[in-house]
Amino acid sequence: MNRYFLIIVSVILLAVASFSAVGFAAKTNSPLYTAENAPTFANNEVGFEETTEHPDEAEVSEKSPIPNPIQTITSFISGSSRWARWWMDFTDEERKYYESQKRAPGPARVGIQAGHWKNSEVPDELSGLKRNGGGASGGGKVEVDVVLEIAKKVKTLLEAKGVVVDLLPATLPVDYVTDAFVSIHADGSTSSNVSGFKIASPQRDFSGKSVDLVKDLYESYGKVTNLDQDKNITRRMSGYYAFNWRRYDHALSPLTPAAIVETGFLTSATDRKIIVSNQNLAAEGIANGILRFLADNELL
Ligand SMILES: [Zn+2]
Repeated sequence: MNRYFLIIVSVILLAVASFSAVGFAAKTNSPLYTAENAPTFANNEVGFEETTEHPDEAEVSEKSPIPNPIQTITSFISGSSRWARWWMDFTDEERKYYESQKRAPGPARVGIQAGHWKNSEVPDELSGLKRNGGGASGGGKVEVDVVLEIAKKVKTLLEAKGVVVDLLPATLPVDYVTDAFVSIHADGSTSSNVSGFKIASPQRDFSGKSVDLVKDLYESYGKVTNLDQDKNITRRMSGYYAFNWRRYDHALSPLTPAAIVETGFLTSATDRKIIVSNQNLAAEGIANGILRFLADNELL
């Protein structure tokens, strides 16, 4: 058994070593965030938010990478190896750059994004977003209209506590830095029986705080709205385009704590009672979670 065992172990070790070498090359070659030059390892992970039942939510149109043989090979290997991305840490230059992007001094500042808002005005790098228009629909309502109202209410609640709020459309400022970012969406399903809310952090949390933000939001949103949790977090949520700072200019700084909230299903009568008919509760659930997060981080 020993000989075969050794052969298998050697093959595995070799494979790991070559992945590491290639990954290192990809890291050291990776330029700072121009959409054109961004390495393509995340391409097949990225969607524009999502839900279980919305295969039509657009993915971005692919740009061909620079025709550099090494980059092509590393992109292929990295892109096809999902786990490979987990150890793609900051390069030194990335870390230096993002750590230098400090927010202006002053009171706590939060970005609230109304999902799909002004989708028709996105820059070229996000043109794939135009295809999903106003997002999900149900009960005679379109997602963008519903979540914009909720987002405005969240803004009012936070401002009452002295927080500065940027109400953001689909297009974020370049390398957006803030104390917390929350993107607000609503779901849709082909079945009116599917219901519940769900919240996700970026797939890789470089800020180290997104998980806390998500936890605070889960607790407060569930408590205030009494809606059930939908456990089906999709990769289109954790791979939300706004989290993909390596690919897009108009994205969050990786150091911004971030969450995407699917407030409930527009196609569910139960959920509509909150997200359409009782938006104050939905807004309160989100605002309370954010306030808790800011307080825990001594920003309030
Ligand atoms: Zn949406």
